[in-house]
Amino acid sequence: MNITELAIHETAELLAKKELTSVQVTEAYLKRIGAVDGRVNAFITVTPDEAIAAAKEADERIRRGADVTPITGVPLSVKDIFCTRGVQTTCASRILKGFVPPFDATVIRRLKHAGAVILGKTNMDEFAMGSSTENSAFFTTKNPWALDRVPGGSSGGSAASVAASECAASLGTDTGGSIRQPASCCGVMGLKPTYGRVSRYGMIAFASSLDQAGPMTKDVRDAAIMLGAIAGRDPLDSTSADAPVPDYTAGLDGGIKGMRIGIPKEYFIEGMDSEVSAAVTAALEVLKDAGATLVPISLPHTAYAVSVYYLVATAEASSNLARYDGVKYGMRAADGANLIDMYKKTRDAGFGAEVKRRIMLGTYSLSAGYYDAYYKKASQVRSLITRDFDEAWKSCDVIATPTAPTPAFKIGEKVSDPLTMYLSDIFTISCNLAGIPGISAPCGFTSGGLPVGLQILGKPFDEAALLRAASAYERETGWHKKRASL
Ligand code: GLN
Repeated sequence: MNITELAIHETAELLAKKELTSVQVTEAYLKRIGAVDGRVNAFITVTPDEAIAAAKEADERIRRGADVTPITGVPLSVKDIFCTRGVQTTCASRILKGFVPPFDATVIRRLKHAGAVILGKTNMDEFAMGSSTENSAFFTTKNPWALDRVPGGSSGGSAASVAASECAASLGTDTGGSIRQPASCCGVMGLKPTYGRVSRYGMIAFASSLDQAGPMTKDVRDAAIMLGAIAGRDPLDSTSADAPVPDYTAGLDGGIKGMRIGIPKEYFIEGMDSEVSAAVTAALEVLKDAGATLVPISLPHTAYAVSVYYLVATAEASSNLARYDGVKYGMRAADGANLIDMYKKTRDAGFGAEVKRRIMLGTYSLSAGYYDAYYKKASQVRSLITRDFDEAWKSCDVIATPTAPTPAFKIGEKVSDPLTMYLSDIFTISCNLAGIPGISAPCGFTSGGLPVGLQILGKPFDEAALLRAASAYERETGWHKKRASL
């Protein structure tokens, strides 16, 4: 048995049977990180001492048989966007270098409370802006399936750490596709919950009306387990919903007989990679054979999603990132002549090119004289995109699409062309704009051995339907069992 290839639920079972201890599992993952992360570069920070201490505590909990949850003693990685008490949190930006939060994000607190072991913080695009981790201020993460390719982004370090068996699962964030697109590129499961399902407190804000944290895992059951651990109302985040948290693992084996799956014609477009299109088309047949009905639908405002997103997300980012001024967090330029000069020099040295581009775009679209033409217009079209989905739910229960138009691209291939990079999220962005949940499930490989992802979107707060559909698909195909060899 290879401990580091096990899913959360498989690990938990062995821990419960006392066939393994959490310390053994944690040591196995730390050894694996030591062996492969020099090539994969998934982690910005590894925290072996904290991990072993948490593992010892988990073993004690399991020994006592009290307070044991499905993730007690299981080692996870988390994106470096989550504040972790006492552990540097950079958001892959120079401007936060040296920032050590005095508190845990709510999702981190919940994971720790459930007994999870946190192995370290994963690489990402700076402030989650990007689709490849090439915008990290520190280094680019490599795709474990092909080391000359990107792992997707912005949660690329999280996706790669799962695919490279450097953790049992990871926690990412998704503002326009940052969980689902890297999950698709790395052949793992990635779930973006409904906006408000999971607390954003302590998760460094990019675009507050779109950001949401979610699991990146080796299979569907693990996604259900992790969502259950992090979901629910948090008094520290007024946008977190008070809706009850169901047992997401309960309905996984229910099957999809009679489920109506909408197939939006706008998502099967010219110019999509032919192998992606073939894999996704084959996946739809599998769903049909498992008893679902495929319903052709239309989401007519899809064509505007990328433009709307880059107005809304950059506007919110320009406002959220105003707080990094050299006074409160992280780095400060040493040679400021006065306060304003210090602000300018800190922000100039601290932010990378993509972050600056977005701050400028967002500031422009919010400025007097342009606000009505850009931000306000974008908000109006966002409502139309949301209405498209409301209309679609009249004829279907979930919607299936490709996750991304291409498999993982080569490192360096798109860096000089931000617009092409923005198109990586053409199929994932509408979901965030509408606030609905979405999952990406592995659905095969290209002839060159690169993973392809199937995206399933659902009604607000109906994560259970996505998990049930993905679970039925997983049972029929077994793609999730494939592991990258490194
Ligand atoms: N790739 C998209 C962007 O660059 C989405 C990022 C995200 O979801 N955080 O904004």
